[in-house]
Amino acid sequence: MSLRRISLVVFVVILALVPVVTPEYKEFWITQANYIGLYTLVVFGLVLLTGVAGLTSFGQAAFVGLGAYSAAYLTLTYGVSPWLTVWIGLAFTAVAALVLAWVTLRMSGHYLPLATIAWGLSLFYLLGNLDFLGKYDGLLGIPALNFFGKVLNTGRSYFYLIWTLVVLAAVAMTHLLDSRAGRAMRAVKGGSTMAEAMGVDTFRVKVTAFVLAALLASVSGWLFAHFQRTVNPSPFGLNMGIEYLFMAVLGGIGYVWGALIGAGVVQILKDQLQVLLPKLMGNSGNYEIIVFGVLLVLMLQYARDGLWSFVDALLPRLRRKVDWAEAPPLPARPRPAHGEVVLDVRDARKEFGGLVAVNDVSFQVKAGEILGLIGPNGAGKSTTFNLVTGVLPATSGQVTLLGRRIDSLASRKIARLGVARTFQHVKMIPGMTVLENVALGAHLRGRHGVPAAMLRLDRAEERGLMKEAERQLQRIGMGELMHEQAGNLALGQQRLMEIARALAADPILLLLDEPAAGLRLKEKEGLADVMRQLRGEGLSILLVEHDMDLVMGLVDRVVVMEFGTKLIEGTPDEVQASPAVRAAYLGTEH
Ligand code: ADP
Ligand code: MG
Repeated sequence: MSLRRISLVVFVVILALVPVVTPEYKEFWITQANYIGLYTLVVFGLVLLTGVAGLTSFGQAAFVGLGAYSAAYLTLTYGVSPWLTVWIGLAFTAVAALVLAWVTLRMSGHYLPLATIAWGLSLFYLLGNLDFLGKYDGLLGIPALNFFGKVLNTGRSYFYLIWTLVVLAAVAMTHLLDSRAGRAMRAVKGGSTMAEAMGVDTFRVKVTAFVLAALLASVSGWLFAHFQRTVNPSPFGLNMGIEYLFMAVLGGIGYVWGALIGAGVVQILKDQLQVLLPKLMGNSGNYEIIVFGVLLVLMLQYARDGLWSFVDALLPRLRRKVDWAEAPPLPARPRPAHGEVVLDVRDARKEFGGLVAVNDVSFQVKAGEILGLIGPNGAGKSTTFNLVTGVLPATSGQVTLLGRRIDSLASRKIARLGVARTFQHVKMIPGMTVLENVALGAHLRGRHGVPAAMLRLDRAEERGLMKEAERQLQRIGMGELMHEQAGNLALGQQRLMEIARALAADPILLLLDEPAAGLRLKEKEGLADVMRQLRGEGLSILLVEHDMDLVMGLVDRVVVMEFGTKLIEGTPDEVQASPAVRAAYLGTEH
């Protein structure tokens, strides 16, 4: 058993003992623990949303309120069983979260945080002004939960329910993060270009993260209503929404267990400060808010990764057990016949304002061919890549893949058709292992989503994806490094990792943007060998590269660009002999 697994078991045993060993007169601490559990559930959602997917919400308290009020109102007014209201509350929450996400997540930037602030504020005032919800007094006399005949009317009995759910949620989250769906969520954090190039539907992934976070908050609200036995708007306002975010940041926004630490520290500190500070100041007031504000600034300045990062540094690095040796290989795409035109770029044009970055460029790439695309910096090579891969829409012109127009398709749709690429500036998930980064490339070769991941029903598929990732890493000579954190690799190795990631997609067309930059001679030779091998397997490669020895010794044909325009196309010999090219490009190099 791994140390992490043992820690979890020890933690659960300690939890189970807490109500047993806590004496009656210390009931207060049971209550505290219950609140910490309730908050932890909400903060789990923020870890997923903010820590993993990079989206910020100030509105989680409002989702807690939605869960709490649904339970309270339905039980009190219609006598609906709490075991039913939890699902109704979840349904309400899902609808509210979907609408919010749908409207705001298509817009980039700060629309989501702003929308969640508006949502947090408006729900608070709505709850406070609706007669049937008791206005600011709220709803009183919510019955205790009845769990198979046992009435949960003490803090102790409630403790078990809350913490069982916390542990289950933590385990489900941990499973999710270690899955195809989890990798897709992490991939959207640094912008959507890379994730979309891997075939991830980034909009959908963001909506999913937002809804999941809201659902966790809603469950917490349901528990809250039956634990407190009353609800009123104040715990569901914007203040609390900010406090949840504070808990997440304090604990460590990227860590599942950071949520627990954050919720625990804030709850206990708040309670102590609420007693201590007014005494010190000599009059009453919410001074703890000031302390929290200062703390937050200090955290962001000196310990941005939160308290759990210090614990995490002491734990052994997560190292995936290699359990995929026997996994059957993933099904492969049919390859076009040798010599068939795979990519046909015709009069492709891209203007940025007045600048013509790509000026009516045409070329073809055939199956089993390496085409070099060269030219000085700023010639328009990377922009051409972006036109082919759907990252940028072309101003005019056509791009065809195996006879099918792709120039108006989204990036991920083009990826699905078999186009894989690397980036001139490496785009990866630095906190994930090399293996997981490469497995992201095989995203479209799996299908399991969030529920299967949480329940670990995706393991057979995962083994297949991991086996493929390892195979590609070995092909590129990086098998030894698969368990390394990608962010720790040298730049050259990161580039090679990107190639393995692209290959894991089983592409028919591979676009490499300066793959040899930062590689040592030996690595360059290895890379050239791999490309020759791939070509032998019928893959088509479009290669942008500045190392002329590498290009000229490897490619079948070369296209030379300058100032967005195609200068010449031909075999390496023809191109090297051309005076125009010498003047424009090679002359400056040699
Ligand atoms: P290369 O990859 O050949 O070095 P690029 O395709 O990156 O060249 O750039 C071609 C030209 O287009 C450059 O002048 C660059 O400044 C410009 N350019 C590239 N991307 C953008 C963009 N998103 N917005 C405006 N100008 C751009
Ligand atoms: Mg470039």
